[in-house]
Amino acid sequence: MPAPAYDETNIFAKILRGELPCHKVYEDDVALAFMDIMPRADGHVLVLPKSPARNILDADPAILGLLIARVQKIALAIKSALAADGITILQYSEPAGGQIVFHLHFHVLPRWKGVELRSHTGVLEKPEVLEVFRAKIAAAIKPD
Ligand code: AMP
Repeated sequence: MPAPAYDETNIFAKILRGELPCHKVYEDDVALAFMDIMPRADGHVLVLPKSPARNILDADPAILGLLIARVQKIALAIKSALAADGITILQYSEPAGGQIVFHLHFHVLPRWKGVELRSHTGVLEKPEVLEVFRAKIAAAIKPD
């Protein structure tokens, strides 16, 4: 069965249009990156394309190429800002794949030895805590 068409009312489309707030880490002509409000790790960031795509299955490969470079930029900033031992990248496509919000996004998760990820969409983090991590990560982003 074909996937449903892109739905302009999804929550990330609203953030991209400025209709809802986010804890913005990075923005350029291709991508927006912001803090996940239910982080699976301290410093959990989402990176999404500005152009509409439901998930990786319908995304324009040219956009994916540009986007993954932004994912790398954010991963490097997170690793450096939070002294992470490693990084986990996650991307869920379609409900059976674990997707909840239907605008393509990559999860960038800092990892430390011996620290397990928290559950997916587990606990809503306090805005002031998200802001601390946002500021550290944004400050560590290398200019092009
Ligand atoms: P998924 O589609 O499975 O990748 O899950 C959506 C992700 O978006 C989850 O990790 C949520 O915690 C996160 N999320 C949902 N709403 C918001 C929001 N308004 N701002 C930031 N992150 C969000």
